[in-house]
Amino acid sequence: MRAATKPFILPEAGPAPDYDPDCRSCARLAGFLDRVRTAHPGYWCRPVPPFGPRGAPLLLVGLAPGMHGANASGRAFTGDHAGILLYETLFDFGFASAPVSVSRDDDLALTGCRISNAVKCLPPQNRPLPAEVAACGRYLAADLASLPDGAAVVALGRVAHEAVLRVLGVRRLAHPFAHGARHALPGGRLTMFDTFHCSRYNTNTRRLTRAMFRAVFRDAAAHLGRPAPAT
Ligand code: SF4
Repeated sequence: MRAATKPFILPEAGPAPDYDPDCRSCARLAGFLDRVRTAHPGYWCRPVPPFGPRGAPLLLVGLAPGMHGANASGRAFTGDHAGILLYETLFDFGFASAPVSVSRDDDLALTGCRISNAVKCLPPQNRPLPAEVAACGRYLAADLASLPDGAAVVALGRVAHEAVLRVLGVRRLAHPFAHGARHALPGGRLTMFDTFHCSRYNTNTRRLTRAMFRAVFRDAAAHLGRPAPAT
C-alpha cells in the first residue's frame, strides 16, 4: 500500500509564489525548452503562468503546456486543440468573457475561475516525469492554498488529479481518478471533480464527448452555487 505523501508546507507570511518565469528547476525540461526555443524563436518557451484571478473559487488543473499551444502562445490552453472545448465550456458557464482564447494578448478574461497546470514547462512527448510533477508542485501548492473554503478543483486528467493529491498529502488509493468522480478532500475545504483531459486524442476518439465534459462542469457549478446552462 502506498504511503501518504508529505504535503508542501507553505510559508506563514505572504502568499507563496505560484509562478516563476525563470524557473529551471527541472534540468531536462529547461534543456528541452532551450532546444525548442532555437527551433521556434517566436514561441513563449518558458514556464507558462496560471491564467485567471488568483483565489478564484474554481481552479482547473491541466497536465502541462502543449508544444504548439500554451508553449507557443504563453497562455494556458491557447493555440491548440485542447483549448477549444475548454474555453467554449467556460464561456457557456459564465467563467470566460469569450468562447475562444486567441492569444495571451487578446481581451479574454476569466471570472471566478483560474487555469493552472501540474507542470508549467513543456515536457517531451507531453509526458512529464514524476520528479518534474513533484518539483512543480510548489507552484500548484500556492494556487491550492489561495483557494477559498468551498472551492472546486477540476482535474483535467489523471496526472493533474494525482498532482493535486500529492500536493495536499492525500493518499491516491483513497481518491482514485475516474471521469465524473467527485472527491471531498480531507480538511473539508476543497472538492475535486475529475474529467478526462480535453486533448485532441480524447475528443477525436470520443473518449471524452462535449456532453461528458459539460456534465463535470455542471457538477462543479452546482457545488459553487452557480447557474449552469441546461445542455
Ligand atoms: S516544470 Fe515547474 S518546477 Fe520544473 S522547471 Fe518548469 S516551472 Fe520549474
